Amino acid sequence: MATKQIELIMAPREPHYVGDGFRVHNFIPSGYRMDMQRMDPFLILDYNSKFHFEPSDIARGVGSHPHKGFETVTIAYKGRVAHTDSSGGGGVIGEGDVQWMTAASGILHKEFHEESFSKKGGDFQMVQLWVNLPAKDKKSNPKYQAIKNNEIPVFSLNDQSKIEVIAGEYNGTNGKASTFTPINMLNAKLSKGTVAPFSFPSAFTTFLLVIEGSIKVNGASEVKTDHLLLFENNGEEFTIEAEEDAIVLVLSGEPINEPIAAHGPFVMNTYEELIEAFDDFNKGKFGYLD
Ligand code: MN
Repeated sequence: MATKQIELIMAPREPHYVGDGFRVHNFIPSGYRMDMQRMDPFLILDYNSKFHFEPSDIARGVGSHPHKGFETVTIAYKGRVAHTDSSGGGGVIGEGDVQWMTAASGILHKEFHEESFSKKGGDFQMVQLWVNLPAKDKKSNPKYQAIKNNEIPVFSLNDQSKIEVIAGEYNGTNGKASTFTPINMLNAKLSKGTVAPFSFPSAFTTFLLVIEGSIKVNGASEVKTDHLLLFENNGEEFTIEAEEDAIVLVLSGEPINEPIAAHGPFVMNTYEELIEAFDDFNKGKFGYLD
């Protein structure tokens, strides 16, 4: 087994708003050698770093919009989001929860701050990730996995440190999210001084985002809060050492290695399929959501 080498460490870019409820730093795709091909199977990573929203009687968020050809994964660290979609899915994503929505053949949804959170205001911190689907699965039916924090399998490293396994596997502990291609999605919650070892196949696209605290990777490279570290697609093993109490989102996925044609909310394999997606949306084929 060889050590995974570090390709780059990226600071958060200037935030922008998605709708009026999500103040995000975009990490993927970026000009910093992290385009959709390089990050395959991960298409987009938007990160709402911890931000205090003042109380509001009108819930902030994003109104009805389509997605097709991939999955959206929302990981809530602070605050609560209410979600509704045209397949009848919906619910509240609370602190520590994960929502895994398969848009696949096409869906409409809306995402707003949950009403009581909105009225009271508070800290809001969330990751939204888009995960691509293989061509053969882009036509499958939409679905929705609501994964509550207390349902996420946990591997304990010591009394104060644990790995939450959202998807994939860590040391024999398996996540509950069903995925179309092999993906490991872990939340490492580490107390100061803890060293956590990881091992993923060398070909997998592997990166991490520091949500809280600061860490050292492979004993040397320091990664601060809100920074992303991308590994080269070589070697298998790496370590994360918590320099202070830390939360780290660790992601590793097998590249799908198919052509990517992406525009706005649609990610297909060819330009013709993109045109068709816009056509279908305009004809109301994604269902209805007001
Ligand atoms: Mn959306």
